[in-house]
Amino acid sequence: MKDYYEILGVRRDASINDIKKAYRKLARKYHPDLNPGDKTAEQRFKEINEAHETLKDPEKKKQYDLYGSLGAHGPGPGAGGPGRGGDFEGFDFNSSGSSTFGDIFETIFGNMGEPRARSGRRAHTPEPGEDLHYSMNLSFMDAANGIETTIQVSHRQPCAACKGKGIDAASKQSTCPACGGRGRVQKQSGFMKFGSVCPSCGGSGVLPGAPCRACGGDGRVETTSRLRVRIPAGVDNDSKVRIAGKGNAGRDGGPAGDLIITTRVAAHKVFRRSGHDLEMILPVTYAEAALGAKIEIPTLEGSALFKVPPGTASGQRLRLKGKGIVHPKTRENGDLYVEIRIVPPPTKDLKVRELLKEIERVAPYDPREELRR
Ligand SMILES: [Zn+2]
Ligand SMILES: [Zn+2]
Repeated sequence: MKDYYEILGVRRDASINDIKKAYRKLARKYHPDLNPGDKTAEQRFKEINEAHETLKDPEKKKQYDLYGSLGAHGPGPGAGGPGRGGDFEGFDFNSSGSSTFGDIFETIFGNMGEPRARSGRRAHTPEPGEDLHYSMNLSFMDAANGIETTIQVSHRQPCAACKGKGIDAASKQSTCPACGGRGRVQKQSGFMKFGSVCPSCGGSGVLPGAPCRACGGDGRVETTSRLRVRIPAGVDNDSKVRIAGKGNAGRDGGPAGDLIITTRVAAHKVFRRSGHDLEMILPVTYAEAALGAKIEIPTLEGSALFKVPPGTASGQRLRLKGKGIVHPKTRENGDLYVEIRIVPPPTKDLKVRELLKEIERVAPYDPREELRR
């Protein structure tokens, strides 16, 4: 004679509520879908159900408490004992007229969405693969000019062992025990009973054999691939580059997901980005600013001659049209803004100081005229 209280791990004076709680916890742990191929778990699951069937029902519980047997629970040697079918297939969930499985699934997986997610098994319909995200660090110049490079990604690809089907080829299809092959289960809600698609088999009524060992039934395995990818010119921080079809493979004929590369762009020692415009500071001498000069400056395409007009003040911004960064979509170029910064001449030499004062004497001017207006 089995001790139902012991099976559920509750005290003899436990409330129906506590019994149900203990049952749910154990059913969740030993559910056959979560323990595929584990005979011990299967046996435990049956015992748990049996104990619950009896103890959740005040009448049956009373009888069990009094006589330690279950007249109401059906025939068989030592009713409720080992006579109730040795294997999972033979275990009849429907004989008592209750919807044991429905209850369990409602309880355990009720808020998990699609039937396939509830049961751990999948209905074998085409399902697209997931998009994957990848972060890529780029030098400033590579981001500005674009680059073709090889990256290593880890994505789920069709499992070779089961040819992507997710099913162990050596195993056989079987009738779904949750619905007895009907594809629908009865659920009880208050006094109402209603049918719903069987969450265990997704309505097909059959379980498609044991899950493939290599991929755990997913039909795909984590694979590391080297991919040649092209990053277009002009990407910035947090730009997204979509590589079609290189995410996770789809399942059962579904399309593959995409690989989405997010770019991180390093700073540059000369250029600063402002959208697709570039900014740089150009240090010039006192004489270059005053007299004008042609100065070699760096650009994205190499060095170029830049004309500083005579009388250029420090802080003045000069624009070089089209020398910024190309927009990856419109293909239009931004501009390069050159900010002039006058660096004073070294004045350690007494002669230099004399000459500077001489200039002030010869051509006096008032740079602060504006301030007095
Ligand atoms: Zn079913
Ligand atoms: Zn497989």
